[in-house]
Amino acid sequence: MKIEFYGAAGCVTGSSHLLKIKDKKILLDCGLYQGKDEKERGNDTFNFNPKDIDYVILSHAHIDHSGRIPLLYKQGFKGNIICTEGTKELCSIMLEDSGHIQEMEIEWLNRKRMRMGQPLIEPLYTAKIAQLSSYLFQGYPYNQWIEIFDGFKVRFRDAGHLLGSSIVEMIITEDEKETKLVFSGDLGNKGIPILNDPTFIDDADYLIMETTYGNKLHENISNNLKELVNIIKSTFKKGGNVVIPSFAVGRTQEVLYALNKYIESDILKNIKVFVDSPLASETTTIYNKFTKYYDKEATTLVESGDNPLEFDGLTFTKSPEESLKINKIKSGAIIISASGMCEAGRIKHHLKHNLWRKESSIVFVGYQAEGTLGRAILNGVKKVKIFGEEIAVNATIYNLQGLSGHADREGLITWLDSFKNKPKAVLLVHGEEESQNSFKELLDNKGYNSFIMKSGDTFIPGSEVKERSEVKEKIMALLDSLKDIDKMDKDLLLAKIKESI
Ligand SMILES: [Zn+2]
Ligand SMILES: [Zn+2]
Repeated sequence: MKIEFYGAAGCVTGSSHLLKIKDKKILLDCGLYQGKDEKERGNDTFNFNPKDIDYVILSHAHIDHSGRIPLLYKQGFKGNIICTEGTKELCSIMLEDSGHIQEMEIEWLNRKRMRMGQPLIEPLYTAKIAQLSSYLFQGYPYNQWIEIFDGFKVRFRDAGHLLGSSIVEMIITEDEKETKLVFSGDLGNKGIPILNDPTFIDDADYLIMETTYGNKLHENISNNLKELVNIIKSTFKKGGNVVIPSFAVGRTQEVLYALNKYIESDILKNIKVFVDSPLASETTTIYNKFTKYYDKEATTLVESGDNPLEFDGLTFTKSPEESLKINKIKSGAIIISASGMCEAGRIKHHLKHNLWRKESSIVFVGYQAEGTLGRAILNGVKKVKIFGEEIAVNATIYNLQGLSGHADREGLITWLDSFKNKPKAVLLVHGEEESQNSFKELLDNKGYNSFIMKSGDTFIPGSEVKERSEVKEKIMALLDSLKDIDKMDKDLLLAKIKESI
């Protein structure tokens, strides 16, 4: 057995690790690079031949874990995608939406290219391709062993990070020897609304573990929720709106659940809440369908006849016309819109209409990757460019990271310490450098054998070492040097490749 690390290795987005067992190739996640990672690494080519992949095991539906599945399909993958029922359902809407975004972005770019006399380019994949790839998904319940092929079985455990999110347990039998590999996926934040806390796992020989917040402690969730109420009240008093950039899938439903509580207990009165994201509306319908995944508190509410994702004053806007109408509201509205990192979607319109107003507030409730518009606003820039227009940042900016869907440093270590036996090696992924170094130091001090996995690294269980092949080093260096070359400039590209050989 061998594990090769490609995406979310040395960074947060683009999760993908290639597991080689006997003659089979299994991809753990197939995520899209976003923000800085996308600019540096690009999404259009894989480090392997998609036709050679036999299965994809998908930890959860977030685009940074699933977003390149349609491209994998487009480039020849025809195997099965194994995941939970919830992940399958969420992916059926999320990947199509991602396809729409790709098409729209390329259409916009092509209009510009046409004016400049440049050749047109193709989207990464279309909504149609995404739809077709959804037939490859096979959804399973939690806690059930699934035999994928002779010598390889998997079981999904609730990761408490997103509806249907999972920690993947894998048992590999080679030469009559069993090895247990666990992939943490993204681990949930203890106490977040609706979902259960991450499941504790008994044992693993080897563990691939996320480290998004390996160096940070979140604020207390209930304090953050109280702060949200105060922000809403004070913003409305000033005569502004509260804009919440939020992942359409997961975070939006958690925020709605919290607002439902405050509105039904009269802590917040007479407010208008707009969920301005068609994807968020569809996702809410899926959340309503999968109440079996809910935690105790949410289940009690459902059993008492209350739908915790519905309340007076809540509007899900569908058409662009309805969305435009929100721009006319100057005060008293909570606008929840996607994308969560402000890179695309309707949120950009709401930021354009509210960022420059000192009466309004922008509340971040999720992770902002390096290089995204969200991160720039959070970092305190005074001006941003939205749709080519310069917008001043005068609104008050809040960062409620306690509402994060990810476990913090303490959550991560508590989860790891709960293993009854220490894994032989902990392979760290899905984290920025600072976070990974800090978390590795903690693991070293606690006596764990851990490795930070970078893109291109290989780990061979049994030998307990990570390898970095020279060929890979060369290819990575070559790709690096090609970064600035225009995609269509083939002669220059060929010359560079020849030069490097
Ligand atoms: Zn995630
Ligand atoms: Zn992730």
